[in-house]
Amino acid sequence: MRALRLTAWGEPATPTEVERPVPHGTEVLVRVEAAGLCHSDLHVIDGVPGALPYRLPFTLGHEVAGRATALGPDAEGVTAGQRVVVYGPWGCGACDRCAAGRDNYCDRRDTLPWHGVGLGRDGGMAEYLLVPSARHLVPIDDLPAVQAAPLSDAGLTSYHAVAGLRPALGEGGTAVVIGVGGLGHLAVQILRATTASRILAVDVREDALALADRSGADFGTLVRADTARVLRTRSGGAGADAVLDFVGTAQTLELATGILRPGGELAVVGSGGGRLTVAKPGVLPPGFRLSLPFWGTRAELAEVVGLARSGAIQVETERFPLSAAPEVIGRLRRGQVRGRAVLVP
Ligand code: NAD
Ligand code: ZN
Ligand code: ZN
Repeated sequence: MRALRLTAWGEPATPTEVERPVPHGTEVLVRVEAAGLCHSDLHVIDGVPGALPYRLPFTLGHEVAGRATALGPDAEGVTAGQRVVVYGPWGCGACDRCAAGRDNYCDRRDTLPWHGVGLGRDGGMAEYLLVPSARHLVPIDDLPAVQAAPLSDAGLTSYHAVAGLRPALGEGGTAVVIGVGGLGHLAVQILRATTASRILAVDVREDALALADRSGADFGTLVRADTARVLRTRSGGAGADAVLDFVGTAQTLELATGILRPGGELAVVGSGGGRLTVAKPGVLPPGFRLSLPFWGTRAELAEVVGLARSGAIQVETERFPLSAAPEVIGRLRRGQVRGRAVLVP
């Protein structure tokens, strides 16, 4: 089968012919119908040797949907032919967190040479994917795979981040979304569907602001010298109750902390390499809270699938054949993908 393999850090991932896996024990073989391309894939491809604990080579692809086609003799909780989305964070499977479906915060994370499917373990940018256990599968029924695949990270991570901000947002607070790409446009929709907040969006691209508007944002602005002032005014003057930073550079962290009102919370989701200095006294607002949400729980993925099936959220996708992966990776790098790029094998 064809698979997009990462064979060396910092070198382009290449479509390669590999053996189709066979499920043993509790494993489930999924015929991949769609795999989303995440900005994190760029961070992984660009990884410097030793920075990530992953062993090379492996197949990329951590947003995967398809059909369970073959089951190992001990696989339980899924039937052959069932359509599924893959819960991507794969933990140790044995700690309290994993047992509770919270592999995203596995206690043994630091001892494992992977973070999940397509992140140190073979992923779904291939014709077939071997999943270690049906506990990593969530049924999607008739949801199209191109919609379902991005729910497993772009949707789930945004949902988990928004859930964490609910106390800070309260009833009718102001949320600012920085970076309206694959994750950000779903964060806007999830805020709209699950909170009563005023939603302000920021990006460096006009087309991303148009997407924010279609996704339900109340206001969108390009990053400019006076962005902080504009956002403060739009929040009613006091500043934002919550900021979701899907970029995470020094520039966006400065903007985020500069527009939070006292008692507000910043969730940093983007891995842009920016740093935040904590000092008292300092420039951070009193009562400032910071969270670093990572992915989400299995139960939350089922809730996100439910939101998509009800029509409350809809992923904006651009669809490509798996063979176009190298070119699509280039497009994402150049900021030329609207919403989520999805590869179809
Ligand atoms: P994306 O490329 O689809 O979207 C990024 C958006 O940010 C684009 O619209 C881009 O125009 C915009 N942007 C870039 N620079 C900006 C700036 N200075 N100010 C405002 N907007 C700016 O990326 P994505 O797939 O949505 O991922 C976003 C980030 O989240 C990445 O860093 C990714 O690695 C990270 N991520 C984290 C988790 C987690 O669990 N913590 C999960 C998935 C992705
Ligand atoms: Zn991702
Ligand atoms: Zn664990």
